[in-house]
Amino acid sequence: MMNDPQGKIKSQHLRRNAYLYVRQSTLRQVLENSESTERQYALRQRAIQLGWSQEQIVVIDNDLGQSGASAADRLGFQKLVAEVGMAHAGIVMGLEVSRLARNSADWHRLLEMCALADTLILDEDGLYDPAHFNDRLLLGLKGTMSEAELHVLKTRLQGGIVNKARRGELLGPLPIGFVYGSDGKVQLDPDRQVQESLRVFFETFQRTGSAMATVKAFREQELSFPHRVHGGINKGELVWKALVHSRALWLLHNPRYAGAFFYGRTRQRHNPHGGIRFQKLPREEWTVFIPEAHVGYICLEQFEENQKRLLENAQNQGADRKKSSPREGPALLQGIVLCGKCGNRMGVRYHRIRERLVPDYVCQRDGIERAEPICQSIPGGGLELAIAALLLETVTPLALEVALSVEEELRRRSSEVEGLRQKHIERLRYEADLARRRYMQVDPDNRLVADELEGHWNEKLRAHKEAVEAMEEQRRAQVQALSQEKREQIMALAKDFPKLWNDPRTPSRERKRMVRLLVEDVTLIKDHGITAHVRFKGGTTQTIALPPAPSIGELRKNPAHLVGEVDRLLDNYTHSQIAAILTHKGMRTVDEAPLSRLSIRHIQQAYGLVPRYDRLRNRGMLNLLELSEQLGVSRATVKNWNQAGLLRSHLYNDRNDCLFEPMGDETPVKGKHKGLMASLRQMRLSRKNSSQQPDEVQYEV
Ligand SMILES: [Zn+2]
Repeated sequence: MMNDPQGKIKSQHLRRNAYLYVRQSTLRQVLENSESTERQYALRQRAIQLGWSQEQIVVIDNDLGQSGASAADRLGFQKLVAEVGMAHAGIVMGLEVSRLARNSADWHRLLEMCALADTLILDEDGLYDPAHFNDRLLLGLKGTMSEAELHVLKTRLQGGIVNKARRGELLGPLPIGFVYGSDGKVQLDPDRQVQESLRVFFETFQRTGSAMATVKAFREQELSFPHRVHGGINKGELVWKALVHSRALWLLHNPRYAGAFFYGRTRQRHNPHGGIRFQKLPREEWTVFIPEAHVGYICLEQFEENQKRLLENAQNQGADRKKSSPREGPALLQGIVLCGKCGNRMGVRYHRIRERLVPDYVCQRDGIERAEPICQSIPGGGLELAIAALLLETVTPLALEVALSVEEELRRRSSEVEGLRQKHIERLRYEADLARRRYMQVDPDNRLVADELEGHWNEKLRAHKEAVEAMEEQRRAQVQALSQEKREQIMALAKDFPKLWNDPRTPSRERKRMVRLLVEDVTLIKDHGITAHVRFKGGTTQTIALPPAPSIGELRKNPAHLVGEVDRLLDNYTHSQIAAILTHKGMRTVDEAPLSRLSIRHIQQAYGLVPRYDRLRNRGMLNLLELSEQLGVSRATVKNWNQAGLLRSHLYNDRNDCLFEPMGDETPVKGKHKGLMASLRQMRLSRKNSSQQPDEVQYEV
């Protein structure tokens, strides 16, 4: 037989199949290095020369594009081993046999099996019988060399890469918003729209403090976000897509936007079953981190701040926080309380009193970190009332400032977005112009091309028109929102702060928002009582001292103060008025619920207080019907007199029902009504004498 001078090939080999194993490590090799593939297939010819027939040759090429580093994912290699093990293979062929397996263990196992199953091995250099000691030694060496070669190659490449990275000169793909200049230095993308988009992105995050809110803001403004295509036929092209949450997080976590160069942020791990897993490393373990390596969109401090913010957000969503409601909770001062003992931010913990969540402010960050007892814990109920009272007192001089700053912020925001949108329109117009020029340049005889270019031009024109319309629409909506609703809301906040604050319909979220508009932070110290230093946004500070909070039991047993107040106010006010007055003074029910018309009625009835109607009757007041009958005039006339100021009306319930009495002596009366006035007063006096009149209580709100 030709090519087999040593006579290794026996008839039992030729009876079995010949297996040709074809592999290229990467897809790129498969695409570009077709010559090697051809050489591998050429081995087929050698097998035929050696005596195998065409039909006996089995080609295994499942592993094209798979790395040879491990056999685990390589189905083709596994199939080959199986065929050898079942003694179906007379010969195994590969371009370089060492390529069959680049992992020594795999390779030696294959050799062992080939020896046992009496299978020959063939490569471009020669023919081997693994059962022969010399051949086996040579094959073993080839495998070892091959593995060593791979290792050296890898180390050299990796070493070069790391060295370059250490100098900050490794030119990897850049994230969107950066390009390499002609000098190889990183610079901001010259495309203004891309730059603006990133600036707006980071500013929005800074303002909203959450990636989700940022994505939402982009969606609401219908802004798209730039994206550079990294592969395929459109490689390098800029596309505009909607911003998504994962991308927002990726951008926020990427230090390059702060101008820092980094390398080795992740570590590769081989899974036991093959495949690779990427593990994120903490900053200290990164191979390279060079701050201020190039220009950026934010400063490094801002970047660190963002990381902290994202971490906090993540912790808010974490399992350990889920027990208490994280953000919608009623704690007024959540997030702005500082511990006066250690300086850490204090957290909120809720406990439940009759279906109501009552906050406690707790300093436990260090406690958790070092497993120590908590630093201090302060009951929130009384504190919040005191802060609310302080705000109600202070808000007037601050009101205008707040209103103005809010409005300023809104205006700035809308102009920012407007600029970005303008840029988008400019780009679309530029593209339309470009399409038009292309259309004009084409030879008119070339119908097909001209038609296509015309269609393209039309498409661009339409996109431009739509964008302009969208902008007009948004602008209209925005101006409206600013001029009417928002302005009114803001002015209302400034004017009606106490009313808004006390309105039970105002959600606690809104109250929190109002507090945040006004207060920078609150520092709390607990010794005998509680001292709270409140720092307002303008920089002024106020200190309030609270007596030690009464225990819940004490409050339950001792509602006398509240009952006394209600009793006093019933002389002059209706239930809902009393509720408003007492709430304004910072009072609540014994259960710490806000006071309402019904709770005042409940107190009045439960403690047997004289109803307001009876009090007014006792003071000699008459209703409309009684007055009109006694005076012999129509009810309309009585109403007229009331309006003319001859009578004084008193609400006695919350349905606008009144009782009437004549005006006091001090009121000057015009000549025409003098006689009438005298008889009215007479009437009241006679009534007054017939009943006991309780002492008049003066109460000024
Ligand atoms: Zn503390």
